[in-house]
Amino acid sequence: MSILDENIQFLKGVGPKRAEILRKKGIFKIKDLLYYPPFRYEDREFVKPISDLKVGEFSLIRARILASDVNITRKKKIKVFEMVVGDGSGVLNVYFFNMPFLKRSLKEGMILYLYGRVVRDFYSINRLCLQNPEFEVERGGSSNIHRERIIPIYRAIGRLNSRQLREIIFNLLKKVNGKIDEFLPPYIIERYSFPLREDALREIHFPDYREDFPFSRGEYMERLNSFSTDSHKRMIYEELFLFQLGLKFVAKKFKRKRKNRKIVVDLNLKRYLGKILPFKLTEAQKRVMREIVRDLESPYPMNRLLQGDVGSGKTIIALMSMLIVVKNGYQTVLMAPTEILAEQHFINFQNMLEERDVEIALLKSGIKKREKEEIKEKLRMGEIKILVGTHSVLEEDVEFDNLGLVVIDEQHRFGVIQRMKLYRKSLSPDIIVMTATPIPRTLALTLYGDLDLSVIDELPPNRRRVDTFLFFENQVENVYRMIEKELEIGNRGYFVFPIIEDSEKMELKSLMSGFEEIKRRFGGYRVDVLHGKMGTLQKEDVMRKFKNGEIDILVSTTVVEVGVDVGDANFMVIEHAERFGLAQLHQLRGRVGRGGREGKCFLIVHSVKNEDSLERLKVFVENSDGFKIAEEDMRIRGIGDLGGVKQWGVDGFKFANILRDREMVEEVSNDVESYLKTMSEITEVDDKILTELKDFFGEKMKFFNWG
Ligand code: ADP
Ligand code: MG
Repeated sequence: MSILDENIQFLKGVGPKRAEILRKKGIFKIKDLLYYPPFRYEDREFVKPISDLKVGEFSLIRARILASDVNITRKKKIKVFEMVVGDGSGVLNVYFFNMPFLKRSLKEGMILYLYGRVVRDFYSINRLCLQNPEFEVERGGSSNIHRERIIPIYRAIGRLNSRQLREIIFNLLKKVNGKIDEFLPPYIIERYSFPLREDALREIHFPDYREDFPFSRGEYMERLNSFSTDSHKRMIYEELFLFQLGLKFVAKKFKRKRKNRKIVVDLNLKRYLGKILPFKLTEAQKRVMREIVRDLESPYPMNRLLQGDVGSGKTIIALMSMLIVVKNGYQTVLMAPTEILAEQHFINFQNMLEERDVEIALLKSGIKKREKEEIKEKLRMGEIKILVGTHSVLEEDVEFDNLGLVVIDEQHRFGVIQRMKLYRKSLSPDIIVMTATPIPRTLALTLYGDLDLSVIDELPPNRRRVDTFLFFENQVENVYRMIEKELEIGNRGYFVFPIIEDSEKMELKSLMSGFEEIKRRFGGYRVDVLHGKMGTLQKEDVMRKFKNGEIDILVSTTVVEVGVDVGDANFMVIEHAERFGLAQLHQLRGRVGRGGREGKCFLIVHSVKNEDSLERLKVFVENSDGFKIAEEDMRIRGIGDLGGVKQWGVDGFKFANILRDREMVEEVSNDVESYLKTMSEITEVDDKILTELKDFFGEKMKFFNWG
């Protein structure tokens, strides 16, 4: 067993209680601790004389306690432990708020190391002070873990603070000395001049500036804090390598598996499709269709991610693809993320297939048992050719006679794991995953590394601009007046309320009181409400009325977020806009401005936490391109939850940041590609790498069907 796999409980400074805290955060073994990098570094190498201190600078001083006392602030009655310390060059005041107990341990005459930001003294003008600094009492021979070096700062784990973690990891590094092996192929280490794993981990936790470095100390600090030392790069590379190796191997495996059906698109079929098409495809749609047809006709199963901005026309691509497969004699299924959406697709398809020459069914939770059994029976017999539904369509008891194609709409609600389950059912259908999640291409390739990518990068000609306005809560009357004008000229639209996390009741309450208010305010108009808790029939009824123009204002939760297509709705008011992610706002806004008329979108902001969230909303107001919005959003917030990483059950990366490291993402992608070229079975992967791969993917390995 590698030392990396040893339990943390018996480490110096850990013990059963702390081990429990660490375990709660997923830290079980030595490797987990070593792979918990500091998120920031401070240079505490040099002790500064008090006379040299400057306002605003983080500084380390060594000084003697000259006097101390506990006082109480006048206004807020806070207990303050105050000290005057001196080092021969000057004296300094030090305040510890809410820490009167320090009086017991910090005594006059003691020598302390103090580290913190120097600020002007509030109580005595012209003096400087430290407030709640980090401190350490100088004891003869004590090791200098926390001072006179560059200090790693860790995010606290439960009750364990950065300082405690620093001590634990300091001792741990002593213990593992010389015992951590390298597993990346030697030629890779050489190509990038990477340090070996143990050295890299050592530098990441306890970096040390050496005079022979070809850059200054200041630059070194910058490199550390931007995770760009060679050691950081080594660890980032490792994560990206394992991640992509896993995904690529899955892809390779599936591509090798031949499918036992033959699909041909001949002239007859082309004519048939042309007749059904209600409009001319855009160039982008045509290109994507060609890519799909090529995959359908190929002897290997298709695994394709179809990416296209909101409203770019993915649904028709789905239908065309399904019809091709159906006309070749196979069954198909379309999976939607919500029932409302499934119903909408079903109705659309029925309308387009006027001749009723293809049997199509909708499977949903609301229908009667007998009806359901009938659908299942017809599926087993191969009579139903197109099945539409939510993910329930892939439940155990839904069996197909000869399933040829699965289309999954709006991937961000449907995980890779579900796709894996399909394969494990030992069906090997062609798969199209459709998403509007606008991830830049390079990122998409990494996150969905097991999929080929098609992009619809053009909107249909009838799409119109949507003017977007930002208002604060107290200006809501202005918004209402503008809505009144819209209604007067016969326009219709949505009021959308956010989903309040963990509180469906609250969500419903704010929605319903909003609904009442809007009804009152727009007395002469037809206002109705739609939310997830309504019965299927009721929902259908409301959607139908809205579509038919029998409702002027639809008050709704985010159930309208994905895919709902009501062509002539052209305004949208989004309440609590600050609670939505930009991608989600973009989805919502995509519901209006369809059908050849310009749209208006009003964001109402109730409370913003910080400048970032306002800046985010401004980016949204000023941009209409989903890719642009996503990129800006990532610039401000980091990659967050946008990617598919979480779906893989990998709890994010520990070292890598896919946005920051996107250049390396591509290098690694090429490296993995050529690494795999020489092998055909996972068993050929180097043992050491295989071990790390299993560690990286954990539970999810079972979906790989190997190892
Ligand atoms: P999304 O990609 O968001 O799923 P949809 O497939 O719902 O977009 O398409 C949005 C709207 O644009 C629909 O009303 C659809 O009928 C229409 N549409 C799609 N492609 C075209 C096209 N080539 N020309 C005109 N309208 C189109
Ligand atoms: Mg759609």
